[in-house]
Amino acid sequence: MTDTIFQKIIDKELPAEIHYEDDICLVIKDINPIAPTHLLIIPKKSIEKISDSNKEDQELLGHLFLVAGKVARDLGVEDAFRLVVNNGADAHQTVFHLHIHLIAGREFSWPPG
Ligand code: 5GP
Repeated sequence: MTDTIFQKIIDKELPAEIHYEDDICLVIKDINPIAPTHLLIIPKKSIEKISDSNKEDQELLGHLFLVAGKVARDLGVEDAFRLVVNNGADAHQTVFHLHIHLIAGREFSWPPG
């Protein structure tokens, strides 16, 4: 299987605006933001989509949410942000390496489209 764009960014083969990095994940700015703040929280472990994760990923998945909260606090958007995970092409997943969108800085509507 060929590497996804995110794998290449993790491996530093492609550039990205990195907001945060640790041993487990990378947080980058989305190249095509849909809000004033639009970051992607990407685990370094390659998991295609959330429905492919399993029990052994429990700690990793928890870490991604803790990082989301930390990043939101760092940016001062902790009172209003949205986390989105698209799972599968029909749910508009376009990069098949698990990632969480962190979106903030504009009004939200509900239900999401
Ligand atoms: P998905 O549709 O899979 O949930 O989200 C993929 C996201 O990755 C999209 O919001 C898209 O704008 C972003 N994206 C695609 N290619 C790149 C890239 O090369 N660099 C960055 N920073 N973001 C990308």
